[in-house]
Amino acid sequence: ASELDPADRALVDGVLAHQLRPLAKTITLLESQRDDHKARARHVLEALLPHTGGAMRVGISGVPGVGKSTFIEALGLYLIEQGLRVAVLAVDPSSSLTGGSILGDKTRMELLSQNPAAFIRPSPSAGSLGGVAEKTRETMLVCEAAGFDVIIIETVGVGQSETAVAGMSDIFCLLQLPNAGDDLQAIKKGIMEIADLIVINKADIDAGAAMRAKSQMKTALHMLRPASPNWTVPVLMLSALHKQGIADFWAAVTEYRRVLSATGEFEAKRRHQALAWMWDLIDAGLRSRFRSHPRVKHELPALAQAVEEGTTTPSAAALRLLGYLN
Ligand code: GDP
Repeated sequence: ASELDPADRALVDGVLAHQLRPLAKTITLLESQRDDHKARARHVLEALLPHTGGAMRVGISGVPGVGKSTFIEALGLYLIEQGLRVAVLAVDPSSSLTGGSILGDKTRMELLSQNPAAFIRPSPSAGSLGGVAEKTRETMLVCEAAGFDVIIIETVGVGQSETAVAGMSDIFCLLQLPNAGDDLQAIKKGIMEIADLIVINKADIDAGAAMRAKSQMKTALHMLRPASPNWTVPVLMLSALHKQGIADFWAAVTEYRRVLSATGEFEAKRRHQALAWMWDLIDAGLRSRFRSHPRVKHELPALAQAVEEGTTTPSAAALRLLGYLN
């Protein structure tokens, strides 16, 4: 850390002093595509690393309109009342397409965003899901170094981004609407298998429907193999709009942490996530080295065409191209 230049030293000191401006500046540095910024960001992150890991990392997912931002605002304000500091991050791979991030938008969480104990950061628009997830993971670490007690990572209910968020959360929570049939969709998409906690939101609209959805969900969960033998996935009914059930939600999160910490599973999950993260980076690095290799670049178009036309096999083409990496 002694080799940090003065500007970066100031960032690190500011973050460790829990100041929001250096925090935001550090995240901007992390998200930059410039090579010199990337090198600086790496140094800053390394200096902060010993101060990370202290937060509860909560992943929140659900389809648009289920009430994620309403819920996160209510939860955030509740946690702040308990004396905690809360950071809200988002993983939204579509944000680079739409030109602006939908998730983590401050205008959606007005009260929370005005609260000095909260920090809201929209999704980075780094293009691919891999890139977005990578930046969000690093941002999460910086927020931990800045003393946040709870990191909420929000994502929309679409495929790969949920897996990415589950891969960086201690607990992954799925928000559902109280519609019969919704649970079946979730099972089909394989989301329920990665959920540690299920919330049926908007229970205020129709309590009967919410109860039916809850028991259907419970039945469906019985058919799945639990991620931990020590944890039965709870199904909670909640009204984010009326701030009902927020304390119960947080009690369930705390209980999850208590139970899995006692068995060592909590720390094991984080170790596993760190290793998986490393392999993601190795895979991405190899892929980019492969694609930028001069001979690969030169021969790829013709070989790809030959594969399409059936004049060479996919395996022969792959073997030949991979051979250039040696
Ligand atoms: P998101 O797209 O998942 O972030 O959903 P929003 O938080 O923007 O909520 C979508 C709509 O549902 C908004 O009009 C909210 O006011 C409404 N909403 C959210 N939670 C509840 C709830 O618990 N009960 C009711 N009745 N409406 C809710």
